[in-house]
Amino acid sequence: MENCLFCKIIAGEIPSEKVYEDDEVLAFKDINPMAPIHILIIPKKHIDGADKLDESNTAVVAKIFAVASRLAKELKLDNGFRIVTNVGSDGGQTVRHLHFHLLGGAKLKTELC
Ligand code: 5GP
Ligand code: ZN
Repeated sequence: MENCLFCKIIAGEIPSEKVYEDDEVLAFKDINPMAPIHILIIPKKHIDGADKLDESNTAVVAKIFAVASRLAKELKLDNGFRIVTNVGSDGGQTVRHLHFHLLGGAKLKTELC
């Protein structure tokens, strides 16, 4: 999608530190990490956010969770990790392309607001 930051990252127009890629999913390091490990996992096909998911496009979410689990093992997040998706302005979504934050490598805080 035009003018979408993450679509530009997928297209290689904006550089990123990729940690996983296949036909449907890309994972790359967050530019402003909130934890020692902070990876963004995104579908290559543009979806605005979790509010735009329905029966027709949720299969990629299962794939994203499988990628998250695989990366967590590779990165030895054996004590646990967190997967977060922010939705819309109240949810704190700043990039309107569905993405899941994989956070770990430290004991994470639990405050949500
Ligand atoms: P949101 O706030 O929408 O849930 O998450 C967007 C995330 O994208 C933020 O954590 C932010 O640091 C990250 N981000 C924004 N611009 C870039 C960029 O150009 N490259 C990378 N790797 N991450 C970015
Ligand atoms: Zn996009």
